[in-house]
Parts: sequence; structure tokens; C-alpha cells
Amino acid sequence: MAQAPLLEVKGLRTYFKIDKEKVAKAVDGVDFTINPGETVALVGESGSGKSITSLSIMKLVGKPGKIEDGQIIFGGKNLVDYSDRQMSKVRGKDIAMIFQEPMTALNPVYTIGTQIAETLMRHKKISKAEARTKAIELLKIVGFPRAEATVDEYPHQLSGGMRQRAMIAIAISCDPKLLIADEPTTALDVTIQAQILDLMDDMKKKFNMAVLLITHDLGVVAEYADRVMVMYGGQIVEETDIERLFDKPKHPYTIGLLESLPSLEKEVDRLGAIKGMVPPSHSFPKGCRFADRCPSAMAKCLESHPELLEIETGHKVRCYLYE
Ligand code: SF4
Repeated sequence: MAQAPLLEVKGLRTYFKIDKEKVAKAVDGVDFTINPGETVALVGESGSGKSITSLSIMKLVGKPGKIEDGQIIFGGKNLVDYSDRQMSKVRGKDIAMIFQEPMTALNPVYTIGTQIAETLMRHKKISKAEARTKAIELLKIVGFPRAEATVDEYPHQLSGGMRQRAMIAIAISCDPKLLIADEPTTALDVTIQAQILDLMDDMKKKFNMAVLLITHDLGVVAEYADRVMVMYGGQIVEETDIERLFDKPKHPYTIGLLESLPSLEKEVDRLGAIKGMVPPSHSFPKGCRFADRCPSAMAKCLESHPELLEIETGHKVRCYLYE
């Protein structure tokens, strides 16, 4: 019997009302599932809607953004219906999140130990002393050699990589079932990036978490993900497993992303080879949203909008070439 998904996102639409006439459709009809223990990557350029998708799952989209439609089913419950109070019990406990720049997520005026202990005490009935002991234990797990001292240090006393380790300690403190990692290593040096991604992967296995990994870096996807969803213009345009994504990509956008992967000598500007830009989310064309950048565009592509279709088991594509 197939296992029930851990997370099921159905028809998610998160819009931002810019003014009376303009609405930015940042996430515009997104469906996907994540199974327990699985790492799923959400890939795309900036402006594709991947970060707003993750913030929607946590219900952290700021005004004027709003979830206009859809369901986010987690543990059998639709989080879209949850109040702020109900969500605060889910965030950090069942679903944890780490961000690109830990300095914005960590509070500069509290010690690392206080911030880990605060999460523990909010979600578990433990004393301050127990929380401190557990904080030191967690700091050791994520690789702090002097955890007894680090627990009393402030975020600014740590390097970027160490701050991200501290964020991971906070994230795993309450044994979440799902970890959302939004570009967790983009702000770090290349050598530190690999250490943090390896640590996340180790923690995922140790604590049996599922991971939603938001990234623009297909190298990271190849190394760490089981499945990948490629996002463009607020929608998923291709979804498949890692082997097929790299061996048999279908959507012209995915093919463009793969072709623009740098050689070992060229580390930067990974997505630079696809000409043009993601269309603004307040004025999507009526046809395919990739049409003005697509080398295979046909007349039909300008006229109507393609659906996401399963072209073989476990491989979905939104493109008229595969109808
Ligand atoms: Fe290109 Fe047309 Fe496919 Fe869009 S639907 S990706 S324009 S071929």
C-alpha cells in the first residue's frame, strides 16, 4: 500500500494585490506532495515563486500577500484554515524552516542558547535548565566543538557557517517532520556550503525528516534531492525524479537550466544562459509563460496556456511539445 504523503499542496494560489487593477500572482495553482523522509527540491530563478510557495506552507506570507485558494494538507489537516495561534504550534515543532541569511532569522540580542531553549520551551514541557542542557547537546550534534561556551554566545560572535549550524540546531530541536530550507547556503562560501548541506542531509537521516529544499542551484539538487520540481512563472513546469531530470529533461526551461550549468571552472551565474527574464507576475501572457524565451515556441504556445500533464509515471511536464 502506498504511504500517505506527509504534505499535500493542492491548487495553491498566493497573490499580492499591488493596486486596484494589478495583482501579482506569485504562486498560481501549485500542486505537489512530499512523502515522509523524502528530499524534494524546488528549483527556479528568482521571481519564479519558489520562496513564496515555502512561505505559504508556513503561512508566513506578509501583507499584501494572501493565500487566495488551495489547500495545504499536513498530518491530515488543512493548514490554510489554521489561525495564527494554531500555526504557531506547528511552526518550529512539526515544520521547521531555515533561511538563506541566518542573521535575519536569529535575534541579535539573545544568546544562541536562549534562542534554542525558547523554541524547546514553547513546544515541549521542559524546564529552563533542561532546555539549556538540551541546547548544548543540540549544538554538539550540529558540530560545535565548544558547545558549552557557544550556548552563551551571541549570533554576531559566530561566522556565517556557524550561524547556519545554529539555525539547524534550532530547526531540529523539536524533531520536526518537515524541514523547509530556503537557499540555505547561498550566502556562504563554497567550502562551507558543502559542509552545511552535508550536515542537513545527516540530520535528515538521523531524525527521519522530509526536506523541501528551495534552490536555484542544480548542482545542489543533483547531490541531495530525491525528486525535483521546476518552477516558472508561479507554476510547476516539470516534476520528476533526479535521474530523469538530468538524463531526460523534457521542458525547454529545464533543458535551458541544465545547459547553463557551469563547468567546474565557472562557478557563478549558473542560470545566465537562458536569455530574457521571468515575466512579471502581475502581467503573465495568456499563453505559455515561457514562450518569449523558448526556442521551441509554436503559434499555439502564444494562444493558450498548457496544463501540467503526467507524460509517464512520476514525470509531469507543462508543455505542448508533449501533449
Ligand atoms: Fe515552449 Fe510552447 Fe512548451 Fe511553452 S508550451 S515551453 S513555449 S514549446
